[in-house]
Amino acid sequence: MATGKINVSVDNIFPLIKKFLYSDHEIFLRELISNATDATLKLKHLVSIGEAQVELGEPRIEVKVDTEGKKLHIVDQGIGMTEEEVRKYINEVAFSGAEEFLDKYKDAGKDAGIIGHFGLGFYSAFMVAHKVEIISKSYQDAPAVHWVCEGNPEFTTSEADKADRGTEIILHIAEDSEEFLEEGRIRELLMKYNKFMPVPIKFGTRTETLPKPEGAKEEDPAPTREVDDIINNPSPAWTRKPTDLEDEDYRTFYRELYPMQFEEPLFHIHLNVDYPFNLTGILYFPKLTGDLNLQKDRIQLYQNQVFVTDNVEGIVPEFLTMLRGVIDSPDIPLNVSRSYLQADGAVKKISSYITRKVADKLTSLFKEDREGFEQKWNDIKIVIEYGMLSEEKFFEKAETFALYPTVDGAYYTFEELQEKVKAQQTDKDDRLVLLYASDQEAQHSYIEAARAKGYEVLLLDSPIVSHLMQKLETSKEKIAFARVDADHLDKLIPKDEPQVSKLSESEQETLKTQMEQVLGDKSAYTVQLEAMDSEAAPFVITEPEFMRRMKEMQQTGGGMFGIGNMPEVYNLVVNTNHPLVSEILNTKTDKKRSRLINQSLDLARLSKGLLKGEDLTRFIRRSYEMVK
Ligand code: ADP
Repeated sequence: MATGKINVSVDNIFPLIKKFLYSDHEIFLRELISNATDATLKLKHLVSIGEAQVELGEPRIEVKVDTEGKKLHIVDQGIGMTEEEVRKYINEVAFSGAEEFLDKYKDAGKDAGIIGHFGLGFYSAFMVAHKVEIISKSYQDAPAVHWVCEGNPEFTTSEADKADRGTEIILHIAEDSEEFLEEGRIRELLMKYNKFMPVPIKFGTRTETLPKPEGAKEEDPAPTREVDDIINNPSPAWTRKPTDLEDEDYRTFYRELYPMQFEEPLFHIHLNVDYPFNLTGILYFPKLTGDLNLQKDRIQLYQNQVFVTDNVEGIVPEFLTMLRGVIDSPDIPLNVSRSYLQADGAVKKISSYITRKVADKLTSLFKEDREGFEQKWNDIKIVIEYGMLSEEKFFEKAETFALYPTVDGAYYTFEELQEKVKAQQTDKDDRLVLLYASDQEAQHSYIEAARAKGYEVLLLDSPIVSHLMQKLETSKEKIAFARVDADHLDKLIPKDEPQVSKLSESEQETLKTQMEQVLGDKSAYTVQLEAMDSEAAPFVITEPEFMRRMKEMQQTGGGMFGIGNMPEVYNLVVNTNHPLVSEILNTKTDKKRSRLINQSLDLARLSKGLLKGEDLTRFIRRSYEMVK
């Protein structure tokens, strides 16, 4: 037996490891299984290049809980270590065996799939164990070694009588970490971090039901048998070639990834690059209705099939964090701050690669099956609109596939839309006015009025669309969006031949005074006299586009005004060419005039959905009086 002292600069590094180094103690298991996986893949590699003459078999990793003995075992059938290697690799904390291996097999390193550095690796065992043992037998012809360390820099080594190749790590779980002796807790960790690791991991056994033998009676129970419980899928879909996968494989993998998700994804994007960085993965577009804040199932980040995190902020552009799926890349630096990540050149490249792939996929989906794409539009528009707002490159690419639906259920690209409406909807200043509604029911009478004029009305109802309109107006020439109730129709798209009012100047002034008298000073409406078609409504309530849009933008973040709530602004447009308006002007008694004005105003409020509560009750009562 030999004793020694681990060569570390701080004598009491162990308590430090325990206290400060990791906030998440649970990651020890991921570290140890990563080491076991590395050891297995290294051996496979050596065998494949003919440097190791051993019977490889089907190596696996086993995790065992010994509740009685308060121990946790992690056993692999990998490369193993000689005594010298244990001293070298384990005792020298700063020394990384993986690094040396990589150095030696530089060219083949990537194929061997070595799991990189997460941090302190092996020593993270001391976060949960007061004593750690290693029993290891190298694939080379050397005696097995037994290493014991009790959570201080002293260790002992001796010869062990292990006959089979590989390494067993035994953790004597500390009193404050006994949760890691619970089978359920360990299973949970394995499912979280190791579900897709490349070497099969056995954890206990499970009961398998076998088919009944022929001639068995109805009441005979089906025979069962105990089989090893392999908790992982060593070759998940993203590690395979897209050409080897069917749509069904992608759906199956989605369910594997999110077992609690019952809704099928809309489509997927298979990511696969190896230059200038290494990245594989599959992203899914889920149906994004409902509450966006309630996003539990997020994109998962892996490094060589080891789960790292489901917080991909900074790696994936923000608008894509609404997607689901996996990204696997050894090139993403871990254990660094988010702000560092965002500034990192490689990470930036990864982020723009992903953006480009998503845009390309959307383009091809649109081209190959436009009808299918249109059907999905409502479920994907938020992601696309958000992307157009936040990523300039994506905005440019989206020109081909971003859709503008109409209230009649047609879908146009921006270019098609322009072409379709330019004859009718170009105003006297040569500006193209794009009319839209945000709520087909609430704005029904305005929509009908616009359609009666032969205008096309879009249906733009996503929460961030006001920001997008703002952006389109500034990035394209001579276009403007206007909601159908932003003004009366002749003003929304002003043409050269203005209507002439039937009322004289002085009559108009009298009318305005009359109106204002009835409405009172506290009225929410600003009276606006307009000469319109005599067929158009006598009173119309409008909500100026600019103020309303700014208010909406403020509510969804951004906008131009930082503080305070913006007021709602309404105009009461009075059509001076309508016979009812002439009647109001010429009515002899104030009482009758006031009744006409109030009733007409209420009708206008009703069609804008603004008549509520007491005013509505009063309106209904008054209307019954009139029909009597
Ligand atoms: P890293 O894995 O980052 O190099 P670790 O502290 O986790 O750092 O491990 C140090 C070294 O110990 C490894 O590089 C490897 O050479 C060796 N090692 C650890 N666990 C095993 C194992 N299960 N089988 C063989 N070698 C191992």
